[in-house]
Amino acid sequence: MKANKFSLVLAITCLSASSQVLGNTIVRNIEELNKAVAIAQPGDKITMASGIWKNVEILFEAHGTKEKPIELIAEKPGEVIISGLSNLSLAGEYLIVTGLVFKNGHTPTGEVISFRKDKKTIANYCSVTQCVIDNFNNPERFEVDLWVALYGKHNKFEFNSLIDKRNVGVTMAIRLDTEGSRENYHRIANNYFGPRENLGSNGGETLRLGTSHYSLSNSNTVVEYNYFDRCNGEHEIISNKSGNNIFRNNVFYECVGTLTMRHGKYTLVENNYFLGNGVLNTGGIRVINEYQTVRHNYLSGLTGFRFRGALVVMNGIYNSPINRYNQVVDSKIDNNLVVNCDYIQLCAGSDAERTAPPVGTSFSNNVFMSNTTKDPFTIYDDISGISFKNNFINSDAILPIKSGFEKVAYATHKNANGLEVPSDKLLKKIGFENVELPVKLDQTGASYYPKVGKTKTFGEGKSIQVVPGTNTILTALESAEAGDILVLKNGGQYVLTKDVPLYKPITIKALAGEKAIIQSSKAGFFKIENGGSLELTNIKFDGAESPDMSGNRVISTSKYSMNKNYKLFIRDCDVVNMNINYSFDFFKIAQHTMADSILVENSTFKNITGNIFSFDKEPEDLGIYNVESMTITNCRFENVQGVVANIYRGGTDESTFGPWVAIKNTQLLNCGKGSRNKLASSFLFHGVQNLQIEGTTLEHSAPITLFLTNGDPISVLKNIQLKDSGKIISNSKAYTQENIIISDN
Ligand code: CA
Repeated sequence: MKANKFSLVLAITCLSASSQVLGNTIVRNIEELNKAVAIAQPGDKITMASGIWKNVEILFEAHGTKEKPIELIAEKPGEVIISGLSNLSLAGEYLIVTGLVFKNGHTPTGEVISFRKDKKTIANYCSVTQCVIDNFNNPERFEVDLWVALYGKHNKFEFNSLIDKRNVGVTMAIRLDTEGSRENYHRIANNYFGPRENLGSNGGETLRLGTSHYSLSNSNTVVEYNYFDRCNGEHEIISNKSGNNIFRNNVFYECVGTLTMRHGKYTLVENNYFLGNGVLNTGGIRVINEYQTVRHNYLSGLTGFRFRGALVVMNGIYNSPINRYNQVVDSKIDNNLVVNCDYIQLCAGSDAERTAPPVGTSFSNNVFMSNTTKDPFTIYDDISGISFKNNFINSDAILPIKSGFEKVAYATHKNANGLEVPSDKLLKKIGFENVELPVKLDQTGASYYPKVGKTKTFGEGKSIQVVPGTNTILTALESAEAGDILVLKNGGQYVLTKDVPLYKPITIKALAGEKAIIQSSKAGFFKIENGGSLELTNIKFDGAESPDMSGNRVISTSKYSMNKNYKLFIRDCDVVNMNINYSFDFFKIAQHTMADSILVENSTFKNITGNIFSFDKEPEDLGIYNVESMTITNCRFENVQGVVANIYRGGTDESTFGPWVAIKNTQLLNCGKGSRNKLASSFLFHGVQNLQIEGTTLEHSAPITLFLTNGDPISVLKNIQLKDSGKIISNSKAYTQENIIISDN
C-alpha cells in the first residue's frame, strides 16, 4: 500500500497532462509521448491513447534491459491509428512496440518503421509486434519508400500485418549498411505479408535481405512461419542479398514471383509451401550463388516461366561483378515435392554474359508430378555439373536428363490437409511423409486486424437502372459502390456535359439488344481515377456532340500518378465519329499509371482521328511500362488515323513479367496512315514480353512494327493477311511467323 501511495504522489507531482501509474504512462499526443520517452526507465510502459494520431514522427529512443524492456503500446491494439505524414523510429536497446496501426497516410521520409534514428544511433534487441501498416502509400507511384527497415542486431519483427503496398520500394528490408547491422541475427516470424499489386517495375519486392554492395557479409536472419499472400509486386517476392540466412516454414499463396537467392551464400530454404493454384506467373525458388540448400519444399500449381519457374537454377558469370550473377557452386536441391508445376529451368539466363553453368550441385530425391505439362524441364546450357540421383517423375513426361530419374505413373490426390500429393509410398521414398502447411493464415499477422479477402470486381455488386437523359449516368454513379452495374436502356440516348470520374470498379452496360448511345459535350467521356476501373458492354459512343477542339478522348486515366492499377474491359461496343477535330483519341493515359488488363472484344472503332491505345508514357528506359496485359479479340478498326495499339517498355531490366499482348481475329481497314501518326505503324510493340497476333487482317493500313528486347520475348504471329499494308518491320528475326500472306493491291 505504501509503494502504491508513493507512486500516485509521484505521478501527480511529476506529470501534468499525462498520467502515470507504476511506470505506466498514458500519453495523448506527441508532446506527451516525447516527454515520457525522454524519462523512460527500464520496465516502463508508455501507452498511446486510443484515437487518431495525425502527422506524428515518433522517435522511441530509450534503453531498456533484457529483464526490463521499455514498451510503447497501444491503449487498445488496433485503436491507435497513426495517419497523415507519420512514421516511427526505434533507437537504443530492449524496446518493444505493440499494437499500432499505420493507415490513411504515408511517411514523409524514406521509411515508415525504422530500426534506427540515424546511421550512428540504431536499435538492438528491439521488437515490433502486433503492428499493422495498411495502404500507407505515397500517392506518387514512383516516389520510393520502405515500410519496414531493420537495422542493428538481434531485432524481432513478429506477428505484424503489412498490407497493400503500392508505391515503389521494398515492403520490408534488412539493411547491412554499417558494421553494427551485419551478422545481425534478426528474426522475422509469423507476419502476414498481404497483397502487393504488380508494380510493373523493379523495386516491388516484398522482403529484401541486404543489397548487392554488402552481399559478401552475413546477415544470419531467420525468416519463418510467415504467410505471403498474393505478393505480386515484381518477380522477386523475396530478394536474398546477404549470407547465411534461413527461410523455413513459410507459405507463399498465389504469389507472382519467386524466392530469389539473388546474392549471398549459405542460404537455407527449407519446408516452405508455394501454392500457385494455376495463377499466371506464380513461381517458386530461384537459385544463384554458392553453397545454397533448397530442401523439403512443397511447390504446387505454379505456372511461371523463365526466371519465375517453380525451380530455377541460374547460369552465372565467371568472376562476376558483385552486382551481377555468381555461378551456382556446391549447392543442394534435394527432397522437394513439385506437383502440377509447369516449368523447371536449369542454367536459366544463359546468354553471352551468363556463361558459367552450375557445378558441384546435387539434385536428388525430388518428386515431379505434373498433369499440366508434358515437358517441365528446360535446359539452357551444360548440366554436367549437376548430379541427378533418385528423382521421380511421371512416366508420360518428356525428360531431357539422361539418368537419375525413375519414371512412375502419374497419380496424385488431395490429402487430409487439402494439399495435392502423390502416393504415400513415393512420399516416403523422399522423406516427405507429412505434407501440411507449416503455418496457417490465422497464425500470422496482427491478431485483431482482418486479412485481405477477395476484392470486389466488375459485376459483383447491385444493378442500378439509369434512365436516358443528360448526366443521368453521373447521378446514378453517386450512389454506386464497387462492383455495381449501371444498366442503360436499349437504344436510350445519354448525354454527358461533364467528365465522368470513376473511383471504383463500375460496369456500364445495356442488356442484349439495341446499344445504348453515349455522347459528350466535354473533351472526355469517362476518366478512370485512382482506384477506378471500367467495364463497358453494348454501348455506342458517338463523337458527334464533342467539342471542335484537338485532344479529345473517350476515356482517360487520371492526369496524375496513380498508385492503384486499373482494368478496362470493352465488349460489344461501337466507337464512331471521333473526328470532329484532329487527335481525338479513344483512350488517353498519363505517366505513372498502370493497367492490369485491357480487354476489347466484339467491338468496332470507326472514323477516329487519334490513337486507340497508346501505352508509351514511360520513356526513361528503366523497364517501366503502362500495361501488363492487353487482349483485342474479334474487333474491327476502320479509318483510324493514329495507331491502333502502341506499347513501349524500354530498357533491359528483368524484374517484371509484362507486357503480354494478344490480338486475335481482328480486322483493320485504312488504319495508322494519318499524317500525325509519327509511329507510321498500326501496331507498334516495343519490349512486349509475350505477343500473340493471330487470324488478323490489315488492309491499306500502316504496318506492324516489333522491337524485340529484354530477356527472351516470345512473339508469335500467325495467319495474318497484310493487304497493301507493307511487311512486318522488326529489329530481330527472333519471332515465330506462320502463314503470313502479303499482297499489294
Ligand atoms: Ca527486384
